Amino acid sequence: MPVLVMKFGGTSVATLDRIRRAAKRVGREVANGYDVIVIVSAMAGETNKLVGFVSETSPFFDAREYDAVVSSGENVTAGLMALTLQEMDIPARSWQGWQVPLRTTDAHAAARIEEIPTANINAKFAEGMKVAVVAGFQGIGPDNRITTLGRGGSDTTAVAFAAAFGAERCDIYTDVDGVYTTDPRICGKARKLEKIAFEEMLELASLGAKVLQTRSVELAMRYKVRLRVLSSFEDNNETAGTLVCDEEDIVEQNAVAGVAYSRDEAKMTLISVADRPGIAAAIFGPLAEAGVNVDMIVQNISEEGRTDMTFSCPVDHVKRAQRAMEEAAAAGHINYKELIADTDVCKVSIVGIGMRSHAGVAAKMFGSLRDEGINIKVITTSEIKVSVLIDRKYMELAVQALHDAFGLDRAPA
Ligand code: ASP
Ligand code: MG
Repeated sequence: MPVLVMKFGGTSVATLDRIRRAAKRVGREVANGYDVIVIVSAMAGETNKLVGFVSETSPFFDAREYDAVVSSGENVTAGLMALTLQEMDIPARSWQGWQVPLRTTDAHAAARIEEIPTANINAKFAEGMKVAVVAGFQGIGPDNRITTLGRGGSDTTAVAFAAAFGAERCDIYTDVDGVYTTDPRICGKARKLEKIAFEEMLELASLGAKVLQTRSVELAMRYKVRLRVLSSFEDNNETAGTLVCDEEDIVEQNAVAGVAYSRDEAKMTLISVADRPGIAAAIFGPLAEAGVNVDMIVQNISEEGRTDMTFSCPVDHVKRAQRAMEEAAAAGHINYKELIADTDVCKVSIVGIGMRSHAGVAAKMFGSLRDEGINIKVITTSEIKVSVLIDRKYMELAVQALHDAFGLDRAPA
């Protein structure tokens, strides 16, 4: 039997009624002749609640116990989904991560999947079971303890199962009807995309679009999983939602596919550090060790052997960054006059594989921001994206202006 993976996010399993509706969709695919692997998230809000319990109990928590607690939301929905399917006379069984067993690295709270054995579940399919319901987001580490895959991780569970079982498709059911050119909540003209290339989706996800966990897109790209994002609140046909696919499968293409943003960024500048070999290593080594997620980096031209070094990181990493720099200075590894933290910035990015063949995309972006009177603080580019750091108060305006400038409200001709 062909296998289909169907993943239901938190809002799609938020109530018993919604679980029933999701189960009906699963039933339809079973009737279409598929063996179905259903991956479930925790009920909407549950994981946040559990994370809150952990932080309240223990501010600098032990990540193993964090995983023990926050993985539990998915256990509830997996069991309930299996029960609901059974009530509909569909043979179904639930699996927690460790029962598969879905093996991961030991990076608790941010583990990576290493192995998904298929024998156990396939044997049940062979016996006539029609649906395997698997708790997303969780696995078991080399220390034999429960791990989780990072927030949003059940997308990654779903894609990994699709790859392991050679599924025909991996359908991600969520509360939006697909991937949009930008966030419709801040840009009314945002348009749903029929298709988007893996690379573009990967950039959009890592630059702030929240539809899919970045890691899930990476896996889909590597294993060529046909990934579809669609709404669990609407009736869908074969072509509903957005297909994330190879760029060769996309015929018409704008230079820019989408605009992404990430609201809570910070810009940190070390004033007057010695410009000598090893200085970048002396700064960014300790930052990495402190778990600071550094994104953009700019080193100024030096004057009289001293220079300024600027980097960006998430706002909630600022304290850690400050401490790491103070410690490095106290240990004599670096010295600087001042560390300035600008915590009112955001990052806005344009993404598109069309940039490879279109000239002037970055210039057009900068022109459009100039026309709105928006000052750019830091710029970074790659082959298929341009990102700028700007004041947070201009975020919506910048997204809307760029969406207009690149004509993203219109389908490519
Ligand atoms: N429930 C987990 C979270 O909210 C995993 C997921 O839903 O993807 O992060
Ligand atoms: Mg999600």
